[in-house]
Amino acid sequence: MNSYPLLDKLEKNQNLTDDELTLLIEDKAPELAAELALRARAVREKIYGKKVYIRGLIEFTNYCRNNCYYCGIRRDNGKAQRYRLTHEEILACCAAGYRLGFRTFVLQGGEDSYFTDDRLTELIRAIKNSHPDCAVTLSVGERERYSYERLFEAGADRYLLRHETADKTHYESLHPAELSHEHRLQCLRDLKAIGYQVGCGMMIGSPGQTTEHLIEDLRFLQELRPEMVGIGPFIPQHNTPLANSRAGTAELTLKLLSIIRLLLPQVLLPATTALGTIDLQGREKGLLAGANVLMPNLSPVAVREKYALYDNKICMGEEAAECIRCLSKRVEATGYRIVKDRGDHPGFKMEEGLQ
Ligand code: SF4
Repeated sequence: MNSYPLLDKLEKNQNLTDDELTLLIEDKAPELAAELALRARAVREKIYGKKVYIRGLIEFTNYCRNNCYYCGIRRDNGKAQRYRLTHEEILACCAAGYRLGFRTFVLQGGEDSYFTDDRLTELIRAIKNSHPDCAVTLSVGERERYSYERLFEAGADRYLLRHETADKTHYESLHPAELSHEHRLQCLRDLKAIGYQVGCGMMIGSPGQTTEHLIEDLRFLQELRPEMVGIGPFIPQHNTPLANSRAGTAELTLKLLSIIRLLLPQVLLPATTALGTIDLQGREKGLLAGANVLMPNLSPVAVREKYALYDNKICMGEEAAECIRCLSKRVEATGYRIVKDRGDHPGFKMEEGLQ
């Protein structure tokens, strides 16, 4: 007898009601989580086989004009030691990453007004000139539509902008009034309309988060249909207003990864560094729960500690080469393998004539 009719429904892409999703999210039985992971893995393997895509993360500036209550590089954290990588340093990170097999570079930073459209377009063009077979992903926060258009025209392929929570009141409890929930969602819609492969995502277990909020997040994902979804547990950072809040759990994060894989079968789903921080086997467990992407750090070791979004972040000391060796072993232990590939969303491959 099949004891998981809800999972059958989810797997067949029939819309679950809010009550049904609540049951799935709140049931703490390990057997349910294991069955969810098994089914998510089967879907992921049908689409992506055993491949794991890697993205080289370059944290190129920790200056930020914003003051998100949970973030270690928020404007008012006077303890953060600020840095910006130069154009040449960023290109050197890409070159080193290319030699190690990376075919996607993620330029991630705070909302730093130094990086104007002119500076970013110059950087994107330089990376594309040196590595025309690579994808460039940007993760530089909220900008206006014309700015996103310019960056896209310069060659940026993808854009990551976590929505953090789809619930307006919850969003307002995590961000100061100068940030607007509407604008965040509008940015994501603009990015989709322009033609980027778009990634959104939320923290799991952020202060004040309820099951209802998570269901709103899932509904938002179903509506936006992003190409990527980045989720990780909330982890407090000691120099922020939320320093004393409780962290999210690996268990709930893993369960959400599996649910998202079943809701959006083709989605690119990272097993995040935050998941690997809350549980040292978290990234492996994430891959076994439906994730298919890893984002190792290509930033120079000297600046890693300064990009402390949350406490106890892993992989702070390893050089990129060391990091990829360690990750390859971890991935192989799960039965998967890291591949040298841009790792586009299936919907984008044909349009771009890739592969
Ligand atoms: S979460 Fe992003 S926008 Fe908010 S303070 Fe941190 S870097 Fe800035």
